[in-house]
Amino acid sequence: MTDMRTNMSIRLKRIYFGLILVFLTLIYHNCTTRSEAGKSNFDIVILNGRVIDPESGLDAVRNIGINEGKVQELTTKTITGKTLIDARGLVVAPGFIDIHQHGQDAENYRYKVMDGVTTALELEMGTADVDRWYSEREGKTIINHGVSVGHVPLRIDLMDDPGSFAPLADAAYREATNEEIDQLKKEIEHELDRGGIGVGFGLMYTPAASHWEILEMFRAAAKYDAPCYVHIRYAGLKEPNSCIAALEEVISAAAVTGAPLHVVHVTSIGFSQTPMMLQMISEAQSRGLDVTVECYPYPATQTLIESAIYDGDWRGSWGIDYSDLQWIETGERLTEKSFADYRKRGGMVIAHSIPEEVVRSTISNPDVILASDGMLSEGKGHPRGAGSFSRLMGKYVREEGVISLEDGIKKITLMPAQRLEKIAPVFRNKGRICTGADADITIFDSERIIDQATYEEPALYSKGIQYVLVNGVIVVNDGRLVEGVFPGKGVRGEVSK
Ligand SMILES: [Zn+2]
Repeated sequence: MTDMRTNMSIRLKRIYFGLILVFLTLIYHNCTTRSEAGKSNFDIVILNGRVIDPESGLDAVRNIGINEGKVQELTTKTITGKTLIDARGLVVAPGFIDIHQHGQDAENYRYKVMDGVTTALELEMGTADVDRWYSEREGKTIINHGVSVGHVPLRIDLMDDPGSFAPLADAAYREATNEEIDQLKKEIEHELDRGGIGVGFGLMYTPAASHWEILEMFRAAAKYDAPCYVHIRYAGLKEPNSCIAALEEVISAAAVTGAPLHVVHVTSIGFSQTPMMLQMISEAQSRGLDVTVECYPYPATQTLIESAIYDGDWRGSWGIDYSDLQWIETGERLTEKSFADYRKRGGMVIAHSIPEEVVRSTISNPDVILASDGMLSEGKGHPRGAGSFSRLMGKYVREEGVISLEDGIKKITLMPAQRLEKIAPVFRNKGRICTGADADITIFDSERIIDQATYEEPALYSKGIQYVLVNGVIVVNDGRLVEGVFPGKGVRGEVSK
């Protein structure tokens, strides 16, 4: 009897805690599986598509009802609405989230959305003025957009450096004074109060920033539990300035300060040593550190030729030569002489420096998020700006079978959303398809999806993205970009002051 009572009370307690857990889950994710089947009068209905939701594991034909920018219904029953999208034979996925997109203007957003992206975020470089960044874009964008506060632009401003994207003078090459470090720290905190989505770092662009300075910036981030998105200090294997030492610096900074860490474009830092970096990240995770990592699906990098990245013995460190560099403006391969000439002039250069098998093995790693690092300017740039997401789904999922369709979708929807939802709770409703989720939805033909952009012609739309919805508004309709609609919203962290 006593035993029974004890068992009963344990069971009741379990039920009680179970209910609390369910309740907490429901309030944490506004996602629910509630469904009042057979309703009508939706703004938009998406019918008969193969709905893939990486969070619940749903992979089945469903109808989706959308009202007021939200998924209101996910059902097998017949539903009706004012606008119908026939998704028979197509995959219906959460809108793709690009966690690393530098180009943040109308030109770039067009290529993003034609590649299935509904939210594009500038997190690596970030901005020095979060309020201004969002207000410049408010009501004017086809997709959602967001930004971090950036250590690089803050240093450029503070040291009055002539560079814009990358520093070229003091902000790259002068050590900060203690007063300047305090100033940078205060500004990071101020911009996080304004809703910056974490803190961006380009340590290879600011070689004079001391290890202590970076620790101080991580301390500021840690106060807000804000992720630090870092382009680490060195690339390649040549000691003492190896990618391994550089990764140790930021993993250590995360461990010392408690700030979450996100390592950007790992393949363009690690080259053939990328597997070692991924092993270190996985080991750091297993010790309880909050570390994530991303890659882009191309075997070549792109950056400014005049930046600090091309100081020193880059050929020795990266194991490449002048002829592996490609000048974006003309498409030509470089020589020692043309390298020197262009470095004086300045501009974007591509480096064919990442072995293809490293791209493939990194994509196949379940811990790695996929992002683009994209930036097109008047049609020039790296093809990753226009093709990354369709290339993942076309080349690496369909053609080469490197990962499954579901895992491919997860890398560009749920995983980035989960990385961001602590610092920016709006992401709890993105990267998923379920009742209550934001109606950011990408519908594509898994048999046809493929990138078109090349190194020679980077500004070509991807193929196979049939429909895209941003906050419940159709922005790609039957494979064509819809002109003159601006449903994109600024996604930001909580603004506290
Ligand atoms: Zn970078």
